[in-house]
Amino acid sequence: SARTPKSCALWERGKAVLPGGVSGNLRYFAPYPLYMATGSGSRTIDVDGNAYIDCFSCNGPLMLGHRPAAVLEEIERHRDMGPLILNPALLVECAELLAAIVPCAERVRFLNSGTEAVLSAVRYARAFTGRDKVVKFLGHYHGQSDAFLVGLTPDRRPFGAGVPASTQQDILTLPFNDIAAFEALMAERSDIAAVLLDPAMHSGGLWGASSDFLHVLRRETAARGIILIFDEVITGFRLGLAGAQGYYGVTPDLATFAKALAAGEKLGAVVGRADVMAVTDPLTAADIPRAFQSGTGNDGTAALAAAIGAMTEYRRQDAEGGYAALDTAAGECAAMLVSAFAAHGIPLHINRMASMMQLFITDAPASFTRYAELRTDLIELFYLALINHGVMLSLPTSNHVYFSFAQQAADFAAIAEAVTTVLQTYPFAE
Ligand code: PMP
Repeated sequence: SARTPKSCALWERGKAVLPGGVSGNLRYFAPYPLYMATGSGSRTIDVDGNAYIDCFSCNGPLMLGHRPAAVLEEIERHRDMGPLILNPALLVECAELLAAIVPCAERVRFLNSGTEAVLSAVRYARAFTGRDKVVKFLGHYHGQSDAFLVGLTPDRRPFGAGVPASTQQDILTLPFNDIAAFEALMAERSDIAAVLLDPAMHSGGLWGASSDFLHVLRRETAARGIILIFDEVITGFRLGLAGAQGYYGVTPDLATFAKALAAGEKLGAVVGRADVMAVTDPLTAADIPRAFQSGTGNDGTAALAAAIGAMTEYRRQDAEGGYAALDTAAGECAAMLVSAFAAHGIPLHINRMASMMQLFITDAPASFTRYAELRTDLIELFYLALINHGVMLSLPTSNHVYFSFAQQAADFAAIAEAVTTVLQTYPFAE
């Protein structure tokens, strides 16, 4: 396009060395992806110099926007430590902060990503219980490891090629928010190590856990010695300072974090009950099972410094009403979208939890089981048209909107203006 010739040229060049010209399947969108040069606060700026209000936030981590001072200053303060150092002193401070914020976090193990955090948490649960089976829910994503690329859609097919079904035989899948189905499985089996869930069901459409369901999960797992794991890679520091645990008032045994934890640097964490986390403790008594966990980059200094800066800023936001204000602004934006679409005769359904939302065009009541029928093609076109009008509400291919603390009233006003223009300019209703 005339607006983005440098992105177009980079994509042509990039395709020769990078599959699809990108470094991750979800980063591509048609006709070609944008390549970014920098970002500042609520804006991301492409290599052609176009600025976009960024509500995609790199799929969630940029809860504080681009280049937040609180994070950059901490990284700068620790720069002399070098990128990797044995047992860096700030490791302890970072763990103390996380433990102070997250209700279930009696102990903390840092690692590199959300995928790794889930792998480790499940291993600890299996080691602790001596059982193998893990319950996961349809529509929940837990990272890119083979075992958990099952049941992302309403059936059990492995997600994508190259994933042997044999790697998934210990994963039992259930419909989410279905108390009867869960209680039936509990009554039937005694070999379950863990129940794993993303309390927002983000990947499957952000349908969110019902509070009753979470309380049943908590009661039944506790009664059976099953480890309840909240995958808070998405919900952590987003549903509120204390993540889904704080939002729902349900404390799991273990929880996983990544994304917003380090606000853009790469850091994951498993946190949880001291007795369960003891399986990774080199000092555990010989009669306690010991689970292996190690990673060369587990405690990179920039990542830990970023996490300290980010968590300190989340605390400040929480104390000053920032989470409540962002929730209100996101709610107003969702209402604006629904009424703008309605004015053009298009039925829009929005799932929203705090600063996150996903959009569906549908006449009939929307639900996860009807997910495949929802009109994602039109929503993709809408996101693409918005990008051409300076608003990256989501990447067209992902339908993931994540507002950040960097978004101000002026940004939300500009989003509303772009939405009006796009709906007037393009014939979405046809
Ligand atoms: N769990 C959930 C709930 C996620 O949303 C994601 C990433 N979108 C992951 C785990 C995997 O995290 P990562 O991409 O850091 O491996």
